Amino acid sequence: MINLLDLDREGLTAFFVELGEKPFRATQIMKWIYQQGVFDFDKMTNLSKDLRQRLQTIACLSLPEIQTEQISQDGTRKWLVRLDSGNSIEMVLIPEEERNTLCISSQVGCALDCTFCATGKQGFNRNLTTAEIVGQLWLAEQIVIADGQVRENFKHAITNVVIMGMGEPLINFDNTVKAMRIMLDDFAYGLSRRRITLSTVGIVPALQRLKEQCPVSLAISLHAPNDILRNQLIPINKKYPLAELINTCRDYAQGNRHVTFEYVMLKNINDSITHAHELVKLLRGIPAKINLIPFNPFPNINYQRSAIEDIDNFRNVLIQAGLVTVTRKIRGDDINAACGQLAGKIQNLKNQG
Ligand code: SAH
Repeated sequence: MINLLDLDREGLTAFFVELGEKPFRATQIMKWIYQQGVFDFDKMTNLSKDLRQRLQTIACLSLPEIQTEQISQDGTRKWLVRLDSGNSIEMVLIPEEERNTLCISSQVGCALDCTFCATGKQGFNRNLTTAEIVGQLWLAEQIVIADGQVRENFKHAITNVVIMGMGEPLINFDNTVKAMRIMLDDFAYGLSRRRITLSTVGIVPALQRLKEQCPVSLAISLHAPNDILRNQLIPINKKYPLAELINTCRDYAQGNRHVTFEYVMLKNINDSITHAHELVKLLRGIPAKINLIPFNPFPNINYQRSAIEDIDNFRNVLIQAGLVTVTRKIRGDDINAACGQLAGKIQNLKNQG
């Protein structure tokens, strides 16, 4: 059985042509699935009866399942999403005045082992399939619609997607790109590429491919202004050091693509004025925005969040140097839904193969 949620428009077109059907069946079925929320082949009335019957025997539409929901005092919602008998991931909905942002996961756990991240502490099990990535958006859309919470001026229930949940999306490149293509497709969600943000530690060769294949907005987890410190916080920096990463980002930003640098504020680790000046120097000449993220603690971690004054002082140095800098609002930390706090449930830890 082939899960049609694993196929983007190109894949669906090839699938139908293989069956001896017209290529436009692909866009017809995409509309049913992603725009109407219809999963029953029998209800897809513009497909011939014969085709509907064939689909029932050779294809399926299989989604992950919502296991539990938690709602924060600030309105942030976190869902535990069950993928298979041993694995669940988390996704988070952040409602705001002018947008509904969904934060989705790309892997069960993460192999990168960044020292300040709860997901990294769990280890890695497997990549999510395309169906499991785009399925998170499908589920959240349907929940918000069913709750009657779609706001009138919004084209979609979910207006923005950030791939900032569990995992490193550029290590699960193919499935993530296919899922994003479905999100961008006018016959599915029709999100603009500015409304999808992929957050990455910066896997340099994959960033170059992303620029060519699916240039969405980028968020780079920088977190340190020099290699010595970044090597300690983000071990994969040893493989893709800052000079290379920054050059790649400069290249990505050309052609009016959005690049944001994320910088987690860790008390007495990376939050001094000297670090701020170093950061200014590092980012010189790149049209980028900086997002300062107050560290979110989790059990058994030795780091602390920087003091508010230190975050403000750090930000002021950046602003005075002409860098657009915002401090990220802390959302959902009462339900462990904030950045770096997502854990889910993982079985059978494996090393990444
Ligand atoms: N692997 C990707 C996406 C997942 S993390 C990446 O690294 O970008 C999403 C963001 O949350 C990253 O910027 C990550 O560094 C940050 N983060 C991780 N742990 C955190 C914590 N405990 N507090 C605040 N931010 C954290």
